[in-house]
Amino acid sequence: MDTHLSRYPLMWGETPLHRLHGLERVTGLKECWVKRDDLTGIAFGGNKVRKLEYLLGDALAKGCDTVITGGSPQSNHARLTAACARRAGLEPWLCFAGKHMGIQQGNLLLDHILGAEMKTTGVYGSKPLLEEMEKWAEVARQKGKKPYVVPVGGSTPIGDYGYKRAWDVLLDQLAQSGAHPESIVLAVGSGGTLAGLLAGKVLHPAPIKLIGISVWLKADELIPEVVRMANDLLAFLGSDRRLSAAEVHVEDAYIGKKYGVPSDAGNEAIRLLARSEGLFVDPIYTGKALAGLLDLFHCGKIGSRVLFWHTGGTPALFTHAHSFTREG
Ligand SMILES: *Cc1c(COP(=O)(O)O)cnc(C)c1O
Repeated sequence: MDTHLSRYPLMWGETPLHRLHGLERVTGLKECWVKRDDLTGIAFGGNKVRKLEYLLGDALAKGCDTVITGGSPQSNHARLTAACARRAGLEPWLCFAGKHMGIQQGNLLLDHILGAEMKTTGVYGSKPLLEEMEKWAEVARQKGKKPYVVPVGGSTPIGDYGYKRAWDVLLDQLAQSGAHPESIVLAVGSGGTLAGLLAGKVLHPAPIKLIGISVWLKADELIPEVVRMANDLLAFLGSDRRLSAAEVHVEDAYIGKKYGVPSDAGNEAIRLLARSEGLFVDPIYTGKALAGLLDLFHCGKIGSRVLFWHTGGTPALFTHAHSFTREG
C-alpha cells in the first residue's frame, strides 16, 4: 500500500542495523542487534526525523513558511523540528511547557544556535500545549505568516507513517543480514513511533514481538493512545484492518521517578553500553529502554535474541553531567 504523502528527504539513506557483540559478551544475550536511528543524519539524529520527513513534506505541500511545535525545553523533538525546518527553509517556532527554560545546554543550546523563536507557556501536558501552539499560530497568521502546527512528538498519522515505512525497511534489513530477533525493544514517549511500527506489522506481519518501554505514561494510559494512533494511521492509509489493545505490549516499570528524570538503572545501562560497545544512549529515553530490555531478559520475560531500536536523544547526556562524573 502506498500513499499520496509528500516526503521531504532528510536522511542520507537508511540507518545501519548491526550486531552488538560486546554487549552480548557482558550480558549473555545470544543475539543482540541495534537499529541506529540515532544516526538519522541531521542535527545529532533521532527518531523524530522519520516523522519530520512526512510532516515537513506536508507543510511544504501546503505552502507553509513557519513550523510551530512544542515539548519540554530539553525536547529532542523540538530540536530536530527546528533543525529540519531550517534545512527545509522554514522558520522554527518552539513552545516549551512550564515556566522556566532551565539549563542552557543539550537540546536547548542547539535550539539557540538554530535561532528558533522560543517561549515558555506555563502549561504542562500535551493537550494544553497544543492549545498554546494553536494560539501562537493565530499570532503568526496575523503577522502574515503561514504556520504549520506539529503536535508534541510529531505523532499524527502523517508523522507516524515514517515508522510504518521503517517497519518495512527493517524487514528487508533483517532478511539481508540474517538477523532473527524474537523481540524488538524501544523507548516510548507520546507513542507515535510504536504505533507506526505496529501499523506496519498489521499490514506486513512478521513473528517478532514489539515491546515499548514507557518513559512517561503508565501502561493503562499509554496502550489506548497507541491503539488509537495505530488505527488512525491504518484508516488514513485506507486499510480496514485494525489493531487491538491485546496486541500492544508496553512496560511501565522503567520510568523511574518520572519523565525527564534519569533513573539509576538507566544510567547503569548507559555506562554498560558505552563500556562494552563505545555507543551512547541517553538518560531520558534510550538508557531507560535499554535498562528495560536487559531486565526483561534477566527475568526471562523475553528471549535471548533481541533488537534494540535506538531512537536517539544523546544531546540529553550533556544536561546530566553530574550523574556520570561522580563515579569511576
Ligand atoms: C521522542 C523520543 C522517543 C519516543 O517517541 P514517541 O514517538 O514520542 O513515542 C524515543 N526516544 C527518543 C530519543 C525520543 O526523542
